[in-house]
Amino acid sequence: MTDTEQEQQLYYYPNKMARIILLSLEDVIGRNGISAVLNFANLHHLIDNYPPNNFDRNFRFNDLGSLHCALDTMYGQRAGRGLATRTGRAYFNHGLREFESVLGISNLTFRLLPLKMKIKVSLEAFADLYNNHTDQVVRLEEHPDMFCWHTERCPVCWGRETDSPCCHLAVGMFQESLFWVSGGKHFMVEEVSCIALGDPTCTIHISRQPLD
Ligand SMILES: [Zn+2]
Repeated sequence: MTDTEQEQQLYYYPNKMARIILLSLEDVIGRNGISAVLNFANLHHLIDNYPPNNFDRNFRFNDLGSLHCALDTMYGQRAGRGLATRTGRAYFNHGLREFESVLGISNLTFRLLPLKMKIKVSLEAFADLYNNHTDQVVRLEEHPDMFCWHTERCPVCWGRETDSPCCHLAVGMFQESLFWVSGGKHFMVEEVSCIALGDPTCTIHISRQPLD
């Protein structure tokens, strides 16, 4: 094992989160599709055997990176990233149910907040969720017109080298969360830097104003 491989195995997502991502991907590409992707990514052990529904940190960051690499290779970069974005949207919807108690963004107090505050509170809740329950490291920066979501240790592109930002799973998750928070509006969500490109962080710009 090389030094890089050893280092990659130090960071984990909780089983529950990995399970939701796999179920979301299955929603998007079907059971046969996900079996083929897991096979291609050398993750045969996960076929029909998703991680258990608990908070144990057992799902390696590099396995999530391999999964995304397999999507791009099998479907082509453009289609693969479209599938990753759709998986991210499904991931939010599954995740909202599973993490409701941790996130605290479904209760009446939250629902009564004005939209601007709802966006701020939900992004802060996501950042806390990742920083407290996973090995992902996130920093949220607030500007008058947008939020910058900086991921300093990112599982989505872990171990990858690409020629454009590739954390589409995260972009899809934010698109759907803002759609849900705003009761059906669309927002600009764009990944502007990515560790897979050699940048220091995976940074996603999230507009505070809806497009429509
Ligand atoms: Zn990334």
